[in-house]
Amino acid sequence: MGTLAGKTALVTGGSRGIGRATAERLGREGAVVAVHYGRNAGAAEEAVGAIRAAGGTAFAVHAELGQDGDVETLWAEFDRQVLKHCDRAGLDILVNNAGITPRGHIEETTPAVFDEVFAVNVRAPFFLVQQGLKRLRNGGRIINVSSGATRIALTDIIAYGMTKGAIDTFTRTLAKAMGDRGITVNAVAPGIIDTDLNASWLKGNEAAEQSAAQLSALGRVGRPEDVADVIAFLASDDARWVTGQVIDATGGSQL
Ligand code: NAP
Repeated sequence: MGTLAGKTALVTGGSRGIGRATAERLGREGAVVAVHYGRNAGAAEEAVGAIRAAGGTAFAVHAELGQDGDVETLWAEFDRQVLKHCDRAGLDILVNNAGITPRGHIEETTPAVFDEVFAVNVRAPFFLVQQGLKRLRNGGRIINVSSGATRIALTDIIAYGMTKGAIDTFTRTLAKAMGDRGITVNAVAPGIIDTDLNASWLKGNEAAEQSAAQLSALGRVGRPEDVADVIAFLASDDARWVTGQVIDATGGSQL
């Protein structure tokens, strides 16, 4: 039996990249997985199909984050679907992974871009947790996906880095607020990971891949599974005494 048998998990942005690898790993551990997505229903169905093909249980949840009513839509859809796949409502593990990374130095970042990245990366997880608290069982897990960009000063994604700084503060403070319910709250901070998010400059560009690999002490670009495995640890009982932490999963980038 998997380490997460009997648990229900929701992974935002679980249809692609780090979220998909996380959803698949949690599914292999026996959790029922709600795979959230924004626009690409096909990718969500593929992720759900992969989890089912591996013997797991999963369903897709649609809600575009960063808009009015986003969180209400997501939870309504989750509530509607979960009882079809599980014998009880509610959940045990919430992974706040969905995020966007608009590029821009301070001179180029417009108020609209600034507002959008904060709405998707900060406002949505904040209110998803707020409205999810009555669904999250005591002893549960909240895992937020942060970024190495809070430690490494990346001037071309300045607003994005600020959103992840907010996530780190949210993580630490929420951990204190949730302690009496036995809910742990942690964050994982990846470095450069080979996902669609970086495809425009990384995919098929050997020079870019080599220079990205050199940033890591381990000499390669990260894979979605490198992060998903850390998230799975934080979701497991083995991590029961870890809370309020940001775990660096950058492969030792720019140490
Ligand atoms: P990705 O491959 O671009 O996948 C993003 C996922 O989030 C997709 O499932 C996407 O669903 C969903 N999503 C994005 N915007 C959304 C919105 N407005 N509403 C609803 N869903 C939305 O991203 P990734 O590289 O796996 O990154 C995942 C997380 O890791 C992000 O928080 C990112 O900041 C963080 N991170 C990534 C890296 C990296 O190098 N890749 C490094 C550090 C941190 P749809 O396709 O349906 O829109």
